[in-house]
Amino acid sequence: MKKIYLDNAATTPLREEVIQTMIAVLQNDFGNPSSTHSFGRSAKSIIETSRKTIAKYLNCSAQEIIFTSNATEGTNWILREMVKSNGIKKIITSKIEHHATLYTVLNLQKEFGIEVEYISVLPNGNLDLFDFERKLDDKIPTLVTLMHVNNEIGTLINLDSVAAICQKYNVIFHCDTVQSIGKVTIDLQKIPLDFLVASAHKFHGPKGIGFAFIRKNTPIQPMLYGGEQEKGLRAGTEAVHQIAGLAKAFEIANEQLVDETNYITELKSYCIEKLQANFDGIIVNGENTFYNILNVLLPFSDEKTALILFNLDMKGIAVSRGSACQSGSVKPSHVLAEFLSSENIKKPSLRISFSHYNTKEEIDLLIESLKTI
Ligand code: PLP
Repeated sequence: MKKIYLDNAATTPLREEVIQTMIAVLQNDFGNPSSTHSFGRSAKSIIETSRKTIAKYLNCSAQEIIFTSNATEGTNWILREMVKSNGIKKIITSKIEHHATLYTVLNLQKEFGIEVEYISVLPNGNLDLFDFERKLDDKIPTLVTLMHVNNEIGTLINLDSVAAICQKYNVIFHCDTVQSIGKVTIDLQKIPLDFLVASAHKFHGPKGIGFAFIRKNTPIQPMLYGGEQEKGLRAGTEAVHQIAGLAKAFEIANEQLVDETNYITELKSYCIEKLQANFDGIIVNGENTFYNILNVLLPFSDEKTALILFNLDMKGIAVSRGSACQSGSVKPSHVLAEFLSSENIKKPSLRISFSHYNTKEEIDLLIESLKTI
């Protein structure tokens, strides 16, 4: 059975070049990067070259890139340190953020008593930027944390505008770019954000490695204490092969960006057309969404609802639940719950997310399988 992977917002398959890069490092460069002999120096050089590669594509300085195990770690560290050590008293965010942000913020509110404000979500799944600006107009030391691209529905913020607004009101801006980095160009000389976080496995790199961008001269205390790794900010022997794999994946993603963006954009349009042609009353959740994420509400009856993901899985097709209402034991999606009507939230939604490895034939097979449910 041919398996079809259409869940690229959850994670992505590794590129062959990334695997080869990692294998070569595992075989040849096992030295501890902190050792001063040639084995150590060679490993250290891989890390620093990787850092430079990332910085080159983001147009920032290599010193501003700190390797972490993933974006969740980066977000936890940055938000916590800004509140604990940098005097932040208020966080502005939205209820459609990833739980890595939402739960971190809730815990900081509980632990430090900070004020938290949530930007309104419009009926089309986008954030209300007027409401955002209204919430900024006070003198409390504030941090804004927003995701660039929403992982469930693909709505996005205008990074330039949001960063400019934050700069205008002199507040810190942390951006979760997990779904967008490596899929769009981000120029950190032009966009005045203070922090961003990323995970390699979303752009065809390995799991368990990511990075944080920390704008130069932004004071931040270490996440982990110990050795001098990562400028003393994150102590512990570095995962050299993971870092090399991350950098390789990031390099290829950026080099292929235009071609792959065009290809995936067309694939998504094709999928929407086919869905609309075959299922009367299908609705796309969210407006102006990112080119690799499609979240659709299916006009299926209650009995069929529970069977969709199971049936697709039996046919070897992987997509994701858009709303978790298919099973009584799971809660509805916190993202869809923010903007869908109470009637629509009960219906099944699917998240289909694409990569350059997908084909139109795979979309056809998805449609055929949905028709048999
Ligand atoms: N933020 C967004 C938007 C995501 O989609 C994810 C993962 O799905 C994360 C954060 C967390 O990423 P990780 O689990 O790699 O830390």
